[in-house]
Amino acid sequence: MQDPFSDAIDIFEEASKYSDAPGWFIDLLKQPERIIQLRFPLEKDDGKIVPMSGYRVQYNNILGPYKGGIRYHPKVNLSEVKALSFWMMIKNAVCNVPFGGGKGGIEVNPKELSEAELERLTRGFAQKIFPNIGPEIDVPAPDVNTNPQVMEWITDEYRKKLKSQSANGKIDENYIKAVVTGKPLEQGGSEGRTEATGLGGFLVLQSCLNCIELRQKATIAIQGFGNVGSYFAKFASEAGFKIMAVSDSKTGLIDQSGNGGLDIEKIIGFKQKGKSFSDLDLEGVQKISNEDLLELEVDILVPAALEGVINKDNALNIRAGVILELANGPTTKQADKILEEKQVLIIPDVLANSGGVTVSYFEWFQNMHGEHWTVEEVRGKLKEKMETAFKEVWEIAEKKKISLRLAAYVVALNRLASKLS
Ligand code: NAD
Repeated sequence: MQDPFSDAIDIFEEASKYSDAPGWFIDLLKQPERIIQLRFPLEKDDGKIVPMSGYRVQYNNILGPYKGGIRYHPKVNLSEVKALSFWMMIKNAVCNVPFGGGKGGIEVNPKELSEAELERLTRGFAQKIFPNIGPEIDVPAPDVNTNPQVMEWITDEYRKKLKSQSANGKIDENYIKAVVTGKPLEQGGSEGRTEATGLGGFLVLQSCLNCIELRQKATIAIQGFGNVGSYFAKFASEAGFKIMAVSDSKTGLIDQSGNGGLDIEKIIGFKQKGKSFSDLDLEGVQKISNEDLLELEVDILVPAALEGVINKDNALNIRAGVILELANGPTTKQADKILEEKQVLIIPDVLANSGGVTVSYFEWFQNMHGEHWTVEEVRGKLKEKMETAFKEVWEIAEKKKISLRLAAYVVALNRLASKLS
């Protein structure tokens, strides 16, 4: 079985055939610029000290500071972090934000740590990574199992270190805030960040539907109802799309009422109480497995949970005509080929879920310039970015007669190569 990084590079190599970038440059981009491997101690609540391992992969900074999340997970490994940092480079280039690619992770199960241990872990990591991060060097963000609070601890460590190095003890507080994104609003976070990935995906979908013969009020099934899936569902249902099915990790819900879709507002309200769909009983709504949800006869399928859920075992059974990839890497390389033969239109992750990093860039920009934009301003600028990114990808796909995934990689590669001259 191939690892995620070599799968990513295979697609990149395929896409590079449609770009005019020089061969040496394409070869250069097949490996990250820098891999930082960290080892540091964590003091547990009982006084025991355990060694911890973490990574930061700085893939490339051709377009701007390295940018990407930090995840806490027991299965964090170098191949995964390399692949994720590569995808960040591609994603940032596709949506044209002045950031490079980066990603980090610590091998840890945060569910086994107390809040105080989590704080010491984060502060220990931040102290070690200090020389390698900064608003103009590398800007981390939340990812799996990390959140605005974790970002706040990193900012605090960064502030302390900078203060200790400053000759007069004076430091620019706005500049310090720009060391990470995904901060709490009151600590310099941006309006509109929470919903940005779901909204960005919805805007990309709308642009796509304007280009194909699919009715605008199409039917949709969504796998995953966390941050991304639920916001996407909200914007899509408000716009009149029929959300026929949704799911969380335990179970799915399917509309059988004949009323034209689930009541998304009601379902969001239920989820906000922290409950599982398996405990939800609604008239006209039945339960469905996550596997069956993927094979429903709907116009648009939206994987918004995990990687690899559409694979060689189920690709032939997919009945949707359009797949909007809101999760990272939901379709395997083999499934991609099968779906292409079936003429299923895939809107790739590096384009579909780039709304999140776009608003992260807005957050960084506001911090660097001491500004605060309203939610309307943020959404307006996001719309502009998403529509332009989609148009560029669509035009290359049409011109070169290639998939939107390959076209997105070509757009990214051309943008990176444009910095050579
Ligand atoms: P989240 O943790 O808020 O939600 C994840 C959802 O997936 C939950 O509904 C959970 O119940 C469901 N889920 C978990 N295991 C599942 C399983 N085995 N089968 C089906 N569903 C399962 O996460 P999120 O922030 O919504 O991220 C979802 C995806 O989008 C991830 O792939 C993430 O990498 C990607 N993504 C997120 C952002 C962002 O801004 N949050 C940006 C880009 C990409």
